[in-house]
Amino acid sequence: MSEKFDVEYDLVVVGGGGSGLSCAVQAAQNGLTVAVLEKMPQLGGSSAFAEGHAAFESDEQTKRGITVTKDEAFRAYMDYSHWRADAAVVSKFVENAATTIVKMRELGAVYEEVIVTAEDQPGELVTWHIPHGEVAHVIELMEAKARELGVEIFLSTSAKQIVMADGKVAGVVATDADGEQVRIGAKAVVVGTGGYACNPEMLNKFSSWDCGDQIINVGSPGNTGDGLNIMFEVGAVPWSSIGTLLLMPLMRGKTVTSHTNTAGFQPYLWVNRDGERCTNEICGLNFGNAGDVVAGLPGSFYWAVIDQAQIDHLVNDGCEIGLGVYVRTGEKLVNLPAELAADVEAGTVFRADTIAGLAPQIGVDPTVLTAEVERYNALCHAGEDTEFHKEKYLLPVEHGPYFAIKMEPGIMITMGGIKINDDMQVIGKDGHPIPGLYSVGCDAGGLFGDSYILTVPGSANGFALTSGWLAADHATGVIKGLVTA
Ligand SMILES: Cc1cc2nc3c(=O)[nH]c(=O)nc-3n(C[C@H](O)[C@H](O)[C@H](O)COP(=O)(O)OP(=O)(O)OC[C@H]3O[C@@H](n4cnc5c(N)ncnc54)[C@H](O)[C@@H]3O)c2cc1C
Repeated sequence: MSEKFDVEYDLVVVGGGGSGLSCAVQAAQNGLTVAVLEKMPQLGGSSAFAEGHAAFESDEQTKRGITVTKDEAFRAYMDYSHWRADAAVVSKFVENAATTIVKMRELGAVYEEVIVTAEDQPGELVTWHIPHGEVAHVIELMEAKARELGVEIFLSTSAKQIVMADGKVAGVVATDADGEQVRIGAKAVVVGTGGYACNPEMLNKFSSWDCGDQIINVGSPGNTGDGLNIMFEVGAVPWSSIGTLLLMPLMRGKTVTSHTNTAGFQPYLWVNRDGERCTNEICGLNFGNAGDVVAGLPGSFYWAVIDQAQIDHLVNDGCEIGLGVYVRTGEKLVNLPAELAADVEAGTVFRADTIAGLAPQIGVDPTVLTAEVERYNALCHAGEDTEFHKEKYLLPVEHGPYFAIKMEPGIMITMGGIKINDDMQVIGKDGHPIPGLYSVGCDAGGLFGDSYILTVPGSANGFALTSGWLAADHATGVIKGLVTA
């Protein structure tokens, strides 16, 4: 190798989130020297927000009497994606996700529940393994193990370029915490930078939506697509679903724990910017579906129009749909009255005693909104939604005061990324692996089609944690000469 490096390792991991740390721990356990480069001042990435991860035929499921077979899971991924998912990548994940549970438990994780995200969502598989302290704690456990094993972790260090020599990966150029350029040699590089949810330009470029500038990121600010871009520079090719986004309706300025935000995606009445009812609101049971709906509306937003009776119901009886473990389905939204009052005061939520009074505040013709609400109420009273076939949650909007909450597209993650094989090797333009280059987690494509599969909850983080150690094992085999690149 003619390249000059400041320091050399067997394996360099770009990105210190779930996939990168899983990779680093496994590689160090395999006896490799390992460095992790993380551009943020802390580890975790969007993985630190995740509540749980998917596995199939795990011992945690078995001991709870839950049966989700690998066959069933494989079919679910393939059918949900209309077979756009890569069968080999899906199969590798499905086969190995239960081992990830064992590996994380060996690091100290304790799984408290295996659940679904929404009881009312048809066909959801019971795959969501929730560890104590959620995935943020698993990140801490992986970091501790990595440090114990001698992995060198460089924070505030951003990878800028992959170095190739003689057709193989030779290292990485990065900018360190002092802003200095550092050249790090490696026999293999694993890229897990978590996708591009926080890069509006890439959102506009790759996704089918035209609202990239409007999309609100609820995950890590570090997910700016760096890993994809440095892999493209050395010949990686995009996976066909690179533009797939996990969107959700979100109120600007709110977090996923907000009760006003939760009220905004309940399956009650949603109207578009013209004041017209715009969908079957039951899509809110699957926030990914609801996210796609909101992104596709004119102006990419809807107004949730709710009345005092619905607010009382949400406070006293609980919500119809929550947001993962952040707001549980059925949880009583006890903060809602005070939060709403503050939002109205701040001018971010609108309130009026009549629908006609609410309309001008949201830029809608009062006659249109009044007629639309009356029509919707009539459907509710008739018990049959002949407009959008909503079978449940036909709650009329008729007891003022009335509130309007503006819901826009929020994003959790991008999925799809670049083309890999089932050893997590990055595939080049010639259709063959780029020797020494691996991609994991949200940067890697293959598990998803044109939407996120919320009916197999925990897929993204499950894939991140599983693809990480799988990449480490393959890279170890190549470095030790046990398998060919
Ligand atoms: C609110 C929220 C809740 C979620 N809940 C769940 C859930 O319950 N279950 C589930 O399956 N999924 C969930 N997800 C998605 C899940 O967190 C991710 O899909 C997955 O964990 C991503 O892992 P990753 O390693 O690919 O990326 P990340 O965890 O984001 O890690 C990537 C890391 O790379 C770093 N990085 C970026 N560029 C560079 C660079 N140039 N140099 C060095 N480092 C760089 C980033 O700063 C980041 O730390 C959730 C996401 C969010 C936002």
